[in-house]
Parts: sequence; C-alpha cells; structure tokens
Amino acid sequence: MKPLVWVFVEQEEGKVHPVSWELLGKAGELAQELDGVAEALVLGHQVESVAREAISYGADKVYLIDDPVLQYYRNEPYAQGVINLCKKYKPEILLLGATPVGRDLAGSIATSLETGLTADVTGLEIDPKSKNLIMTRPAFGGNIMASIICPNHRPQMSTVRPRTFPLPTKDPSRQAEIIREELGLREEEIRVKRVDFIPKDKVVNLEYAEVIVAGGRGLGKAQGFSLLKELAQLLGGEVGASRAAVDAGWIDYEYQVGQTGKTVRPKVYLALGISGAIQHRVGMQNADFIIAVNTDPKAPIFRIADLGLVGDLYQILPPLIEAIKKERGHGKA
Ligand SMILES: Cc1cc2nc3c(=O)[nH]c(=O)nc-3n(C[C@H](O)[C@H](O)[C@H](O)COP(=O)(O)OP(=O)(O)OC[C@H]3O[C@@H](n4cnc5c(N)ncnc54)[C@H](O)[C@@H]3O)c2cc1C
Repeated sequence: MKPLVWVFVEQEEGKVHPVSWELLGKAGELAQELDGVAEALVLGHQVESVAREAISYGADKVYLIDDPVLQYYRNEPYAQGVINLCKKYKPEILLLGATPVGRDLAGSIATSLETGLTADVTGLEIDPKSKNLIMTRPAFGGNIMASIICPNHRPQMSTVRPRTFPLPTKDPSRQAEIIREELGLREEEIRVKRVDFIPKDKVVNLEYAEVIVAGGRGLGKAQGFSLLKELAQLLGGEVGASRAAVDAGWIDYEYQVGQTGKTVRPKVYLALGISGAIQHRVGMQNADFIIAVNTDPKAPIFRIADLGLVGDLYQILPPLIEAIKKERGHGKA
C-alpha cells in the first residue's frame, strides 16, 4: 500500500480555515517524495461540499465523517473520529493547522495513538535516506531551530503555523473518491455540551491580511501606533509589530510578527521603525512587496525591502496619510 499523507481539514459551519489547504498543497509535495498519496479528513455536519473542495485543492482521496454530533467542534467526538480513521487506514503522516482547534485536537490524537507530535512547526521535509518526516520548529524561546523526527511511531504528527506554506491553486475539475465513514458516537455519550457561543468582538487576522502596517521600537512611543492604525485603515489592512514594540507594552502580543509571533504573507508589508532582525524577518520575508522606512540607511530591513525610504517615519507618514485622504477625496468627487 502507498504511504498516506493526511491533512485534517478544519472547518466551522462549512467554512474552511485556509491553513488546511496550505497543508494539502504541502502534503502533495511530501507524498510525491514518498511515492505516496495526499489525502484529506473532513469531519462535520452537512460538509460534503467541503470534501469536494478538498479534492479541488489537491486531495487524492477524502475520508468524510458527516454526523450531527460533529455540528460544531468538540474535542471528544472529533478526536474519536480521527483516531478511528488512523487505526483503520494507518497513515504515515498526519498534519493539522496550528490553530486553537488543531492544537487542541492534535494532542488528544497523538496521546491516544501513542505517537509523537511536533507542535507549531515552521518547516517540513522528507529525509531522503530514512524517509522520515523532518519537522522544524523554534525551540528554547526561539533561540534555536530544532529538527524533530518521529522514527518509531506512526503517524508522524505536526501542527503547522498558518501561512508557512503557500495556498495551492484550486482546480475544480479534479476528481477523486470520497470515502464515507461512521462516527459511531451518540450525543448522549459526549460529556461536553455547548450552552452558548459568544464570538470575539475583534479577531486580529494578521496571517491573512493583504496589507500590514507594522511598527517597531523606532516609533518611540505607544501613541505612534495610532498613526499606523490610521494608515492601515485607509489601506484596508491590519497593524503589525516587532517584538521590541510588544515588549515595550505599546501593543498586544497578538500583533507580533516573527519567529515567536505570527508568520504573515501579505501583498504589501510596511516596516516602520523596524531594524529587520532575523527573528522579525522570518515572519514576514514572504510578503509580496516590502516597504521599509528607517532613519538608519544600514538597517538590515533594507536588504529585503523592495522599496526603502531613509528618513524619520514621523516626517514621512503624516503627509503620506494626508495624500491618500486627498486622493480618495478626489476619487469620490
Ligand atoms: C529568541 C528570540 C525570539 C525573537 N522573536 C522575535 C519576533 O517574533 N519578532 C520580532 O520582531 N523580534 C523578535 N525577536 C527580537 C529581535 O531580535 C529584535 O530585537 C527585534 O525584532 C527588534 O525590534 P525593532 O526592529 O522594532 O527594534 P530595533 O532593532 O531597536 O530597531 C528600531 C529601528 O528603528 C529605527 N528608527 C528609530 N527611530 C526612527 C524613526 N523616527 N523613524 C524611522 N526609523 C526609526 C532605527 O534606526 C532602528 O533600525 C526575538 C529575539 C529572540 C532572541
């Protein structure tokens, strides 16, 4: 039998988290190196369309468990479903997104299957000799990059950070088999019940923002971020930050970009008063277009910037914001 490279497809009410498709693209590459196949696991209620979408994103086969019990995410039934599938089909590799759901689920699955799990991975490759999966992640607070293998147990499991791998091209004409499986659990057997659902007021969606206006220590003060927020709003983007700005208490950690923050891939990344330390660059260097503003012409950020402006951000930003506003005003007239 060919080695199976599996991806857990995370969905909420039929809407798939894009990290699942990113992983499916990577699973295809890994499967090719193993002479195997990339397959998707879809669990939920009334999610056949998700199974078909998985095929269009590269799944060679989809295992579908469609059951009212799986209407919304709960650890117990979801873990049970994936564990049963793993026991039956014995995949070589199982990948999940390093999202709150993926992290919660992966630990339960790995424990039950008595296999290893590498969390929050930022790189995956196949060792050409042993054919083991090499899983890379920051360790010891990000001071080293650790390459982890799981040679004696299967599946080899990872949760992978969103935006680590590019989104594959969707091909709606792809055809593949959908295998339906039973969950075999009744609602009465599940201990956790959802009594209410309160969505967060504002979810910071940095990983999938198309424009990011990021600030660093060069801002000099927390108020500097108001200027960045204004520009981000005008450009339809989000604000980001370096660790120095977060450590200074000017902005929350959820806005941090970099090795110990978020990995992003926007169309445009503005780095304002950010020197461009390696730990920051690893989180943003895959942006399509990087604009840097820095007073120091030797700042490392200029080495990766597509457009660099040497100067004080407080002199450059206000007229830029005014110019955009004016342009928009003219556009409306
Ligand atoms: C284990 C580990 C993990 C880390 N993880 C991360 C991470 O996830 N993300 C991260 O960002 N960092 C991370 N760091 C920290 C990283 O090494 C840098 O210290 C940090 O990125 C520096 O932030 P900065 O560029 O804002 O500050 P600085 O390096 O101090 O740079 C400030 C820049 O602003 C410029 N400047 C000053 N005034 C102005 C002005 N008025 N206008 C324009 N430019 C101006 C200066 O010339 C300078 O280049 C990590 C470090 C370690 C050891």
